[in-house]
Amino acid sequence: MSDAPFPHPAPNADVAPFWDWCRRGELRIQRCRDCGAYRHHPRPRCPDCTSASYEWAPVSGRGVVYSYTICHPPVLPAFADRVPYNAVVVQLDEGPFMVSNLVDCENDDVTVGMPVEVRLVAVDDDLTLPLFAPIR
Ligand code: ZN
Repeated sequence: MSDAPFPHPAPNADVAPFWDWCRRGELRIQRCRDCGAYRHHPRPRCPDCTSASYEWAPVSGRGVVYSYTICHPPVLPAFADRVPYNAVVVQLDEGPFMVSNLVDCENDDVTVGMPVEVRLVAVDDDLTLPLFAPIR
């Protein structure tokens, strides 16, 4: 097992609530209060209407694999024990994309268009990751 610490995000004020909600066991993303558009990665203004008014809206946690890759060495030391591992781009049912990993799925079984749902997995007391698993 690698001795390298698992990397933690260093979120700014726009992004910190996303990680706080994950740690509390809910997947929430920003939704514009003026036009209703969901967005992710978090940012201060709506890319559709430029409004600065938004809320942290709960989402279904469901989506599909939009794209993926299988990661091989070299990787960060903290991930050396995990190779080969997948990295996926999930398109949430609400529209936005999210980069994550697919769990409970062999790398050879990952396919574009695969329906998936979120699994909030605690790395430690400070970090909970929104991972995804196939819907079977
Ligand atoms: Zn908007």
